[in-house]
Amino acid sequence: MPPPTIAEIAQAIRNVPDFPKPGIQFKDITPVLADPRLFAGSIALLTERYRPGDVDAVVGIDARGFIFAAAAAFHLRTGFVPVRKKGKLPYETHEQSYDLEYGSNTIAIHIDAVQPGSRVLLLDDLLATGGTAAAAAALLRKIGAEILEMGFVVELDFLHGRDRLAGCPVRSLVHY
Ligand code: AMP
Repeated sequence: MPPPTIAEIAQAIRNVPDFPKPGIQFKDITPVLADPRLFAGSIALLTERYRPGDVDAVVGIDARGFIFAAAAAFHLRTGFVPVRKKGKLPYETHEQSYDLEYGSNTIAIHIDAVQPGSRVLLLDDLLATGGTAAAAAALLRKIGAEILEMGFVVELDFLHGRDRLAGCPVRSLVHY
């Protein structure tokens, strides 16, 4: 199977207008997941700068980030760490809240998810305003992790989310 181009991955992403509420252009990555060449290709691209041994854990953000991060962790033969919505993780957690357009959200990580000084790759499906990724980065700093890179399948450039992630390399495959 020849690896896909980023243009092929971009073509497979489906825009769903007004989901989950009016005015949102939802970028649906499920067609990428359903296509073995595109799914494997997206994991290869998100991890291409690393070899097994370079990364101590791949961290995924609830919920679509889990899919890419778990596959990337398997690919790099390293561990997977979930950052979850508040109230879902069973053991002791650190929590971080961030503002949404209306209201706020809180995410959490287990206090012992990685050893201090661990080198981690943080993955999610999509970077929009950057609030979620910035909060996840704050959690990782609380447990002493070093973020090597944040990777996204999709980035909505016009929302300038990466400006909130200053100090950390950000890489996205498909830009809108
Ligand atoms: P943000 O915190 O604004 O960067 O939002 C990023 C999170 O919200 C990610 O976990 C995405 O899965 C989700 N998200 C935000 N906007 C969209 C969108 N237009 N399409 C799909 N997912 C989105």
